[in-house]
Amino acid sequence: MRESPLRTYEGQIRIVLVLLVLFLAVAIYCNVHLLIIARNAIQDEAGRRLGLEADLVRAELERDQMLRGLRSGPEDVPYIPPTYLDRIARVKGMVGIAILSMDGGILSSSDPRRVGQIDPFLSAPGGRALGTLRIGRSVVTPLDRAAGSRHATLAAYSPIRDRRRESIAVIRVEQEVPVLAGVDRSLRAIAALQAGGLVLLLVMVILFARWLLQPYRRLLSAAGGAPGTLSGLGRAGGHDGADELLLAFRGVLDKMRDQERELITLERREGGVTDALIPGERLIGGMTSAVLVFDARGRLAVTNAAASRLLHLDGAAAGKSIADLLAAHPRLVALIEESLATGRGRSREVLPLSGPSGKETHLGAMVSPIRPVSPDGAASGPVEGVICLLADLTEIKMLRERVGLKENLASLGEMSAGIAHEFRNSLAAIQGFARLIARTAGRGGAGREEAREHADAILREVESVEKVVRDFLRYARPAALDLADVDLERLVRGEVAGFREECDARGLSVVVKGSFPSVRADEALLRQALNNLLRNAAEAIAGRNGSPDAPRESSNGGGRIEVRGMPDPHLSGGARIAIADNGPGIARDHLARLFRPFFTTKDRGTGLGLALVQKVAALHDGRIEVDSEPGRGAVFTLVLPARPGQHDTPGSLS
Ligand code: ADP
Repeated sequence: MRESPLRTYEGQIRIVLVLLVLFLAVAIYCNVHLLIIARNAIQDEAGRRLGLEADLVRAELERDQMLRGLRSGPEDVPYIPPTYLDRIARVKGMVGIAILSMDGGILSSSDPRRVGQIDPFLSAPGGRALGTLRIGRSVVTPLDRAAGSRHATLAAYSPIRDRRRESIAVIRVEQEVPVLAGVDRSLRAIAALQAGGLVLLLVMVILFARWLLQPYRRLLSAAGGAPGTLSGLGRAGGHDGADELLLAFRGVLDKMRDQERELITLERREGGVTDALIPGERLIGGMTSAVLVFDARGRLAVTNAAASRLLHLDGAAAGKSIADLLAAHPRLVALIEESLATGRGRSREVLPLSGPSGKETHLGAMVSPIRPVSPDGAASGPVEGVICLLADLTEIKMLRERVGLKENLASLGEMSAGIAHEFRNSLAAIQGFARLIARTAGRGGAGREEAREHADAILREVESVEKVVRDFLRYARPAALDLADVDLERLVRGEVAGFREECDARGLSVVVKGSFPSVRADEALLRQALNNLLRNAAEAIAGRNGSPDAPRESSNGGGRIEVRGMPDPHLSGGARIAIADNGPGIARDHLARLFRPFFTTKDRGTGLGLALVQKVAALHDGRIEVDSEPGRGAVFTLVLPARPGQHDTPGSLS
């Protein structure tokens, strides 16, 4: 249903403006009408005077016997000289005097050219002037003023009557009326001006209405197109857009008031009740990063489970000071205390962290001061505490190291393979000469015997150097993976079988357990890696590591090596091969250096075995893990993805 325009805001504005224009139009009309009445009154007065003038002229004509002939009969028209009329006209300051017959013909005139013509006013079709004159009354013409002219004339017609009082002729006198001309001119100018003004006003009113209504329409369309529903909009019942806007505005105000109340409640809760489980605590409780919040005095206010795990905090940590809580982590304490004191935050700090077992992890730390937030959203004012976010970067660091190692190995391999090749050639030559000495010395005599011993020594040394070079070449040569589907179980059992004879000789038992999935790998490289791990285990049990605290015999009496196979829980199709021994274990300070090339604790070791194992693991995009404590054996675990290139979730040194 269409709404009445009187009820809408737009309709009301339009009606007011239309009424305003109408009022002004009526005012202008009245104004002009009054002016016309005034002009007509002046004109009537001038006409009346002119009629009197005409009567005077008639009286003069009668006095001078000029009209006598008129009364004798129509056919006997008297001659009234135009010069006579002209003289009277000039004497009286008139434009002209004429004597007309009762049918409008000009009998005589002060202007001789007009004699014989028909008077246009009296002969005008539909004119009632002649009738009026016949009944003996005077007639005045309308004002005669050419457009734009300052001059105007008025003419009066007065009847000439005989004794029976019948009109027999008409006197016409014409006079200039400058005052009336001025009034008429002003009247027309004022009327034109006011009509123009009215049109201009109409245009301005239309523009004003648009200008006035435009912001309102914009507001209405913005409110209508606003995302979400403004409460009140479209609900104004029978009301128009202005009412809807008002309701929507009230709705927005109500919402803001509600939010303000909510904020005040939250602020009060934060400031007053610390024990309550506030949403923020619930939020950080589920975070995987460690979160620690300290108050301005440096006491732990809030923490989460990840922080307790990472920093080994107990249940009574809340309320303790930074120094007591993080005594084992002085760099972290320094960071937090600095932030509390200076109000400056720190981000992307990497801190080493030693666990109780001596295992080193790397923490990414972010420390931010807590300040009150002003209404415009900026944090300002005194530091109220510090929030500390910690993330364990060890895995990322290891991943980076593995990638770095892979890249380093490639360049190192290219460089050293060439050198070692030359070195090997020289060794071959030395070896040849030594054999020659040995052969000639074998021909007899004590000197020769001595020469043979030296030559043997040379041979042994050369063999040893040869082994180093061979191992180093294996380690350093850039290896192109010769990938194939490898049945790990077959490979492991084969290696163990080849190794069993040596173990039997040393009185060691070797067992293979678990399941071994098939992987895509370089079989020859995997064999070398496994062989190195088995050999190390056997040598450790046999006490060849040279470690002072290494027991000669294991605690359970017999040396035992266990090779366990299992699928990797993080890698689909990946495998874990653990080689565990009950040897002397590994000293803590050796753990970090174990995989460095040339690190060895053995008299005749090369220190390249584990480096090669690590290289093989890295080439397969896997990794090697070690878990050991002095006196409790060692477990080396080779982790292999189902195929190289499949990245895993890296584990840590455990
Ligand atoms: P090498 O066997 O020539 O010494 P490796 O790189 O194979 O070189 O081993 C480096 C060092 O790691 C060894 O000298 C030894 O001290 C230690 N190690 C390796 N495997 C074991 C193990 N199973 N038990 C104890 N120590 C080990």
